Amino acid sequence: MSMQRRDFLRTIGAASAIAALPGCATMGGGAQGRVVVVGGGYGGATAAKYIRMWSNGSVDVTLVEPNAEFVSCPMSNLVLGGSKDLAYLTTGYANLSARHGVRIVRDTATTVDAGKRTVRLASGAELPYDRLILSPGIDFMWDKVPGLDSAAAQERVFHSWKAGPQTVALRRQLEAMRDGGVYVLSIPVAPYRCPPGPYERACQVAWYFKQAKPRSKVLILDGNGDVTSKGPLFKKAWAEEYKGIVEYRGNHVLSDVDVATNTAKFEVQDAVKADVLNVVPPQRAGAIARAAGVVTANDRWCDVDFLTYESTKVKNVHVLGDAIQIAPGMPKSGHMANQQAKVCAAAVVALLAGQAPSPTPVLTNTCYSMVTDRDSVHVCSVHQYDAEKKTMLTVPGSGGVSPAMNAIEGTYAFAWAKNIWADTLA
Ligand SMILES: Cc1cc2nc3c(=O)[nH]c(=O)nc-3n(C[C@H](O)[C@H](O)[C@H](O)COP(=O)(O)OP(=O)(O)OC[C@H]3O[C@@H](n4cnc5c(N)ncnc54)[C@H](O)[C@@H]3O)c2cc1C
Repeated sequence: MSMQRRDFLRTIGAASAIAALPGCATMGGGAQGRVVVVGGGYGGATAAKYIRMWSNGSVDVTLVEPNAEFVSCPMSNLVLGGSKDLAYLTTGYANLSARHGVRIVRDTATTVDAGKRTVRLASGAELPYDRLILSPGIDFMWDKVPGLDSAAAQERVFHSWKAGPQTVALRRQLEAMRDGGVYVLSIPVAPYRCPPGPYERACQVAWYFKQAKPRSKVLILDGNGDVTSKGPLFKKAWAEEYKGIVEYRGNHVLSDVDVATNTAKFEVQDAVKADVLNVVPPQRAGAIARAAGVVTANDRWCDVDFLTYESTKVKNVHVLGDAIQIAPGMPKSGHMANQQAKVCAAAVVALLAGQAPSPTPVLTNTCYSMVTDRDSVHVCSVHQYDAEKKTMLTVPGSGGVSPAMNAIEGTYAFAWAKNIWADTLA
């Protein structure tokens, strides 16, 4: 992508937040109330911070999150490759409270009473709200992989699709694997969190094998017919950088796993035994979305009004990030969750001030994928609201995939990560 195009996208990125704002003169003016945010990930933490900022501190914001620290999924595949560690991915929540006055409650939301406008927490506490924002990310559909539907099985075959202890545990399995072994990666049928994430993971594991155990193999068994994101770029990396290491097979819809023998079973194809088996299971919105009654699409995802991210079913409950039913061409990504959170934050501040939300929100997205420890590729897009269709549509010609796969792209990728962590949590 040319520098002019990149600069244009950066400008649009900044403008998208501005486009979402209520009128500048009235920003925060008159906004008052209580907002509870459930989930301190890319969507929730960003929404909490921006509601405090854009209401000039006049709206009370409580963020409910069970984890002591934020651990980023973006860049977590590099921990599997061995070039980064968990500390690199980890940021505390202290700035949200100290700088922005967000009240942080370390707990898990268990139920929502939309009539009374309260959220019940695992501790038994009850939080009242005027507006509730749910950004719980994903839960796994273990019923689709019965052999993994127990705590004991999940301690042997990892998904590592929520960054944290499982990321480190999978890295240990790779380190312990003999040279000449086979790492098998099972990918679910789309939609799932982070379309290019599994293919980046294959590159990172191959990068490790290339240095440390070159007779080993990465076998990708994809439930989709073909690579779902940046296909030509990943295939180029596998053919050139990882020749003889990575093998890709499409149309492998997982039906079950035999944990005792580390074997993946498929709806149609023969079973495959692995030395290290890594299963990314099918996903749906996090459990609190179901408890709140906002799951509306295929019993998996939450339909929202794209002007406010308010649930189409339950009033005063907004949903962000991976949990929503996406618009066409919209990825389930951290960048997208962060952008949706800003539109939602501006809309909530406007609504609490008795004003209308912006009718013209714009979102941008860039997904970088590291193909080595330094080289990256990217795909980007711009999405704008279509009032007639009441959805977000990709702006024609606005993005696309990078022509380059190199270390300059890699420096952009690391800068992207640093920037989004600061935007979300600093
Ligand atoms: C390997 C991998 C690589 C990725 N790479 C990229 C990338 O390069 N770029 C990119 O943009 N995206 C990437 N993603 C996707 C990105 O991580 C997600 O899209 C993003 O995290 C979604 O944000 P979210 O707020 O919806 O969920 P999350 O960030 O997962 O946050 C959800 C939070 O909610 C909390 N929570 C859940 N339930 C409750 C409850 N009941 N009560 C209280 N808290 C609760 C959880 O503890 C969690 O902290 C990647 C994902 C993976 C797995």
